Amino acid sequence: MSEDWPAIMVVIGIAMLQGARHAHIDAIQRAATEMSMEIEIIELRTMEDLENNPIDALMLPGGESTVMRLRGNDAASRLLPSLYAWMRENDARPVLATCAGAILMADPQDGGEPLVDAEIDRNAFGGQADSFESDLDCGFPGVFIRAPRFGEVADKVECTLSGEVVGVRRGNRIALTFHPELSNDSRFHRMLLEACA
Ligand code: GLN
Repeated sequence: MSEDWPAIMVVIGIAMLQGARHAHIDAIQRAATEMSMEIEIIELRTMEDLENNPIDALMLPGGESTVMRLRGNDAASRLLPSLYAWMRENDARPVLATCAGAILMADPQDGGEPLVDAEIDRNAFGGQADSFESDLDCGFPGVFIRAPRFGEVADKVECTLSGEVVGVRRGNRIALTFHPELSNDSRFHRMLLEACA
């Protein structure tokens, strides 16, 4: 038997439904390098991808929530219901959901409990032309693209922009209305990896 313990490999699933997927993959890889952690990334397109590849944590990217619901509920994929079931099976499972991903968490529209306890309003900052970049109160460079806005929030506040909640946290689930993968700061991706520890 080898005296060296094998390095623990953390498996991160990413929902490949639509939107800023490759930037998330780059960001989580950068975070893992910063933390000297070994990760494997599983690209999830269908229910079978999740069944065949046990994951430790999930990234749910932004995009267009209407498109993501259509693609993820389609009989050819069924990824969305299987991701909701994966989260509800064990509510300690780490999730990083951004923008449209946060909309899906707060408002799953599947008849089940929301995955974070917060009201959310789509496109509430306006359309594409009203997209903006602004530092959050914690100094994080926030990129807001056709971003939603949280209404009443019952979960823990993770971050704010001029006092307004732009990130919520329920245990290991983090839902953000901005795009951390489009900045060079890997703080939120590191949080996801820390939650796997
Ligand atoms: N406006 C999109 C929606 O409603 C979210 C935008 C984004 O993810 N950048 O789903």
